[in-house]
Amino acid sequence: MTSLTKSATVAVIGAGTMGAGIAQVAAAAGHPVLLYDIAVGAVAKGLDGVKAGLDKLVERKKMEAAERDALMARIKPAETLDQLAGAALVIEAVIEKLSVKHEILSALERVVKLEAILATNTSSLSITTIAAQLKRPERVVGMHFFNPAPIMALVEVVTGVATAPAVAETVFDTAKAWGKAPVYAKSTPGFIANRIARPFYGEALKLLEEGAADVATIDAIMKDCAGFRMGPFELMDLIGIDVNFLVTKSVWEAFFHDPRYAPSLAQQEMVAAGRHGRKTQWGWYDYRTGAAKAAPAEAPQGPKPKSIVLSQNPALAVNRGAYDPVADLAALAREAGITVKFEETAPDFQPLDDPFAPPRGGTQFASAAGEEFQFSPGTAEDRFEPYAETTIGLDGCRLRLTRGTTGHEPGWREPDDLPVVLYDLALDYRATPRIAIAVAAGAPRNVMLTAAGFFQALGKRVSLVEDVPGLVAMRILAMLANEAADAVYRGVCSEEDADTATVKGLNYPAGPLAWGKKLGWHRIHDVMRGLQLYYGDPRYRVAAPIRRWEHMAEAARHA
Ligand code: NAD
Repeated sequence: MTSLTKSATVAVIGAGTMGAGIAQVAAAAGHPVLLYDIAVGAVAKGLDGVKAGLDKLVERKKMEAAERDALMARIKPAETLDQLAGAALVIEAVIEKLSVKHEILSALERVVKLEAILATNTSSLSITTIAAQLKRPERVVGMHFFNPAPIMALVEVVTGVATAPAVAETVFDTAKAWGKAPVYAKSTPGFIANRIARPFYGEALKLLEEGAADVATIDAIMKDCAGFRMGPFELMDLIGIDVNFLVTKSVWEAFFHDPRYAPSLAQQEMVAAGRHGRKTQWGWYDYRTGAAKAAPAEAPQGPKPKSIVLSQNPALAVNRGAYDPVADLAALAREAGITVKFEETAPDFQPLDDPFAPPRGGTQFASAAGEEFQFSPGTAEDRFEPYAETTIGLDGCRLRLTRGTTGHEPGWREPDDLPVVLYDLALDYRATPRIAIAVAAGAPRNVMLTAAGFFQALGKRVSLVEDVPGLVAMRILAMLANEAADAVYRGVCSEEDADTATVKGLNYPAGPLAWGKKLGWHRIHDVMRGLQLYYGDPRYRVAAPIRRWEHMAEAARHA
């Protein structure tokens, strides 16, 4: 451990939302803390805020009054930067402006000891750029707390080109000693959490712009089916639509306008209209007095089926990993008194317009269980074989889990030419109270009712989504997993830290890489590829490591 000793002084510059919280965290860990702010009264206001928060803990008997008093006594106001001379670690949390941060760090350099560490809580500026003008850029490091700092566990320890490894290590170990969950990040736009999180908002906005579903329905799907505490629109309303838009825009610009991070016109319109979310009483939802909160759209009641037929190609199913949502759905159907029949089918999926797909006839599959299936020689890409999910046959239609294509694309070749109803991802099909479905464009209405009736018979609410590729939960989760994989591939962080950052900094129910592993990278690959083919938009390009992991898994399966 190279963490700072408890007697080492921590100085915090900026006593606003973040600075006051960071001062509290350092004082709670036992350090003497100096708090400095340029604005008159800001430190007193910051300290009042800290005290009010601690008072609540005392009221709720989560903290002793003496403990609160000792903590408060450890935070001392500083009147000038010169008074910070004895600090071992200075954390600046002033406004997000490069020139201001430069000025402060340059002034500090003249004041503090040679071995003092200069940390910045910036959420979007490059650590390399912040450090560049200094005499000793190697002691500058990002120490990125999340709001509210006393509660959120994540601290991103961000290294710029010049940051000395020992400096980053000390900050990492110190954050850990403070009870935080530190992760290492390379200084790149959005660092880890704010980068990986972009599709959570961006894809939800895309779906809204396409008319796939309304705000409340998208939120309900993300909460009920994907396990998020808040839907993307609720969260944007909480963060502030204007703030969220600015972060998105800055990440997009910092990535030289990579379409993966492109901001949304619909969001820009909300900013222009002054509907910034909760703080303006109106955003994606209406919070004005008397306004009713928009509810998710629900499908009308459909008939309960007497029986269903599960169809599966045994050779493919055996070879495509363990995850098959139909196991849970079939069990629920039996419990609901629905007869479950089973049939084995021929290979049933050949995307016709997919340039990456093996040529028709190039892949042979066993018809009987136990036989090996063989691939024609070709490139690694050719070996990316189509795979079978178990489909659920209902009266007049078939249900399939979405994999990035729409129900109306010619890629679906049902042996009996039945219309397809796609259902969305749920991380736990047994527990989810809701399932989203999309009926192939042009299918008759009774198809929708039949599909809805099946899921309703299992006790689920059914949300109807337009026939867009990837539906809602699958599409957003695939994009998050793709983004996390890309960040790891580009050396921004480790796999473990990518997941830690999203769980500890964003309250995600699980890490995107853990989802990728659970669902199978082949599935993430297919969803992304389906999206890219459908839209022709490089926004949806498959991250390089997913191709690699898939190919490696493929090789292992056939070793
Ligand atoms: P804030 O506006 O609440 O507080 C900023 C404080 O800095 C103000 O009290 C201001 O008076 C003070 N300040 C401005 N210029 C100064 C100077 N030259 N010297 C000393 N003090 C000065 O802002 P905030 O939300 O606490 O954000 C601070 C930093 O933390 C920013 O870099 C921001 O990007 C980052 N950050 C914010 C959040 C968040 O959710 N608010 C989360 C993580 C990181």
